[in-house]
Amino acid sequence: ITVNDFPSNDLQFDAPIVDHQQLEKILATPQTFDTSAMINGDELAYVLFTSGTTGSPKGVEVSHDNFMTFVDWMLSDEFKIKEHANFLGQPPYSFDLSNMYWLPALLPGGTIKALPHEVVENFGQMFTALPNLDLEVFVGTPSFADMLMLSPAFNQQKMPSLKTFLFCGEELTVKTAKGLHQRFPDAKIFNTYGPTETTVAVSEIEITPEIIENNDRLPVGYAKPGVKLSIWNGDQEITTPGEQGEIVISGNSVARGYMNNPEKTAKSFFKIDGVPAYRTGDAGTLDSDGLLHHKGRMDFQIKLHGYRIELDEVRASLEKSPLIKQAVAVPKYNKDGKVTHLIAYVIPNESTEDTAGLTKQIRESLDGLIMPYMMPTQFVYRES
Ligand code: AMP
Repeated sequence: ITVNDFPSNDLQFDAPIVDHQQLEKILATPQTFDTSAMINGDELAYVLFTSGTTGSPKGVEVSHDNFMTFVDWMLSDEFKIKEHANFLGQPPYSFDLSNMYWLPALLPGGTIKALPHEVVENFGQMFTALPNLDLEVFVGTPSFADMLMLSPAFNQQKMPSLKTFLFCGEELTVKTAKGLHQRFPDAKIFNTYGPTETTVAVSEIEITPEIIENNDRLPVGYAKPGVKLSIWNGDQEITTPGEQGEIVISGNSVARGYMNNPEKTAKSFFKIDGVPAYRTGDAGTLDSDGLLHHKGRMDFQIKLHGYRIELDEVRASLEKSPLIKQAVAVPKYNKDGKVTHLIAYVIPNESTEDTAGLTKQIRESLDGLIMPYMMPTQFVYRES
C-alpha cells in the first residue's frame, strides 16, 4: 500500500500494489468491518524499524499482547490522563513514541492536535500555532521540549491547559526538567524509559521539584506491571542495589524479536525462567526499592535529536559513497552530555584542497543511501 507516488520502475515486486489513487478511493468508500478475524495474543501488531549496525535497519516485531500491556498501562491511574484530553501529536508514526499520544488520546475520546512536519521545521509558524492548540498533554522527546523553550511564550500563562508532560526516548536532563517546572509550575512531568524492543516504555516516574533538587541525573522510574527490571554483568544478574551493569527487561512487554533476523534476535532476546527477556545495551543501576537509573550506553548507539542511531550504520552508509575509501562517524557532545551533531572522519579516495566541494559531492553521492537525520553535519578529512 503506497501513500505516495511509488518508484515502481526501479523495484521489482511479486506482490500486488495498491497505489495512492486506489487508496483514496478505498478510504472514501463506506466500509463495514469484519471483526471476526481480529489479531490476538502473540500475533503481530506492528513492525517498527530501528537503526541497525550493518547499514540496514532492524524490524522489531511487537505482538498484540505486548501492545495491549502498554495500552492498559497508559490508561491506568499511573498517568492520570483525563478523558477527552487534547494531545500534542508531534513525534512521527515511524517512532514508537507516537503510541504514547495516539492511544491515550483516541481511546478515551480525546483529540490529537497534529503539528505537521513543515510547521515544526518553521519556528515562526510553530510558535504561532502552539498557544492556539489548547494543549493538555505534551508527548515528546526532551530535545523537542528544549526547542519549545526557545520561545518565551511557551509557559503556563500562554498555555494554561497544558498540565501533563510525558517524556521518553532519551535522557531528560535536570536542566530541561527545571526549566519546565519554572514555566509550568502546576504541570506534572513524567520521565519514562524503554527501547522499541520492549514496546515503547516500561518504567515511569513523576519528576517532582524534590527529585530535581536531589539528583544530578534524573531517575527513569519503576517498572510497569508485568515487567521486571534487572541489572546484569554479562550472563550474571547483579542483585546488590546500586551496583552498575546492563539493564535487562523481562516480562510481557518484551517483543517477539527482529523480523527475519534470527541471529540478531538470539543476541539480544533470551528467557529468564521461561519469561521473555531483552538485553538493552543500556547501563544502569537499581535502588533497593526498584527505582531505575540510566547511566548511558554500553555500545555505539546514540540519540541525536531523539533519533536512535547506530554509529556503525552511519559508517556503513558513508562508505557506500564512491568518493570515500574509509569513514567513521563520531558524536559531538555538549557540556550537558547531549549529542549536538555527528562528525564524519573520512579518508577520501582522492585527496583535494577543495574540502568544501568534496563534502558537497559526498553529500550528493549519498542522496537516498542514508537517512537525512543520520547525515553528519561536519566532515573532517584524513590521509590515514
Ligand atoms: P528507542 O528504541 O528509539 O525508543 O530508543 C531506546 C533507547 O533510548 C534506550 O535503550 C535508551 O538508551 C534511550 N532512552 C529511552 N528513554 C530514556 C530515558 N528516559 N532516559 C535515558 N535514556 C532513554
